Amino acid sequence: MRAECVYDDFDRKEELQFESQAVHGALGCEPITGAVSFPIFQSATFRHKSFDVSTGYLYSRLQNPTRQELERTMAILEGGAEGFAFSSGQAANMALFGMLKQGDRVVLSDDIYGGTFRICEDIFSNLGCEFVYVDMSQIEKLEAAITPNTRMIFVETPTNPMMKVADIRQISRLAKAHDCLLVVDNTFLTPYFQKPLSLGADIVVHSGTKYLSGHNDVIAGIVVVKDPKLAEHFNMQLKSRGNGLAPFDSWLTLRGLKTLAVRMKKHDENAQVVAQWLRQHPKVKKVYYVGFEDHSGYQVTLSQTTGFGGMISFEVDTVETARKLLSDVRMILFAESLGGTETLVTYPLTQTHESIPDDIRQALGINERFIRISVGIEAAQDIINDLAQALG
Ligand SMILES: *Cc1c(COP(=O)(O)O)cnc(C)c1O
Repeated sequence: MRAECVYDDFDRKEELQFESQAVHGALGCEPITGAVSFPIFQSATFRHKSFDVSTGYLYSRLQNPTRQELERTMAILEGGAEGFAFSSGQAANMALFGMLKQGDRVVLSDDIYGGTFRICEDIFSNLGCEFVYVDMSQIEKLEAAITPNTRMIFVETPTNPMMKVADIRQISRLAKAHDCLLVVDNTFLTPYFQKPLSLGADIVVHSGTKYLSGHNDVIAGIVVVKDPKLAEHFNMQLKSRGNGLAPFDSWLTLRGLKTLAVRMKKHDENAQVVAQWLRQHPKVKKVYYVGFEDHSGYQVTLSQTTGFGGMISFEVDTVETARKLLSDVRMILFAESLGGTETLVTYPLTQTHESIPDDIRQALGINERFIRISVGIEAAQDIINDLAQALG
């Protein structure tokens, strides 16, 4: 069937800067009606013009114009060939690991998001794949973990929640030398601050639930590939697993992307102030924040990012202080997740990293005194005042 598709005439807007690309997307304006807000195509199926001519859209599990606008916009923002939008970050990772065959090995960051760990250990390990976890900030540990059957290196940087930094350029050289794919989970910094594909990664994954959509109102996942050859796999996943992002959720994420740059700037500014304030508080024993000059990954951060982001973890003096803080915050919300306009505090031990075995968590430093804060875009002084009263 021949496709006559008016929507294929989109522009990558390479002459524009990031802020403008985020606002204007791929098509941006809907070309037929001129609608400035790209419409929500809430249709399961699409009518064919005649026996042998379609519009290029067949059925929304395969392709949907709203989802496609989001996918193309993300490909532009990450500097990749193609993007794919999934029903969650977890669904994006499931699609990614769907590339693995029995006997394949993956080397991952040792304090990855708990849900990613669960996909590896509870699903793909049972299918005969092998997963090893290393401290990616120490390149020799990664090199020692690579075996001839290693198919993929999966890096989170900064890591969740210990804020360890991995050198993407250095790891990409290692990945190429060993013929494996380098995947970077770019959820924490977003392409506004860090562009892994330009640093040598092959695939970027995101929980779009976090900064990309940015308002704690949608669950979404994104994959962007550098090489168009990798696109076939993800198209097949969307078609066969049926895990594509719904039109309304695609629209919400697109809407969030328009303000990504201004939000990230404010998250970053606020986090710098909050991190400094936490550091001088007598009940705070240790602060994990990539923007500190004495952070072990500071030089690498400066070399590969244009900002530090809005995430901070810290350890308080006692379990009681930790529990009091989580119970007594007023404006700040005690809730799972990150990357939204609202400041959230999270208790990784029982929330995001509940699936990680306790011996591993303790070795990493995720203990009962450990708290993660996603600094929102409120007034920094209000965030500090609330932390001050809740810490007591
Ligand atoms: C939240 C998160 C995920 C999972 O994404 P969902 O959208 O919740 O499915 C994966 N990686 C990181 C770093 C995350 O923060």
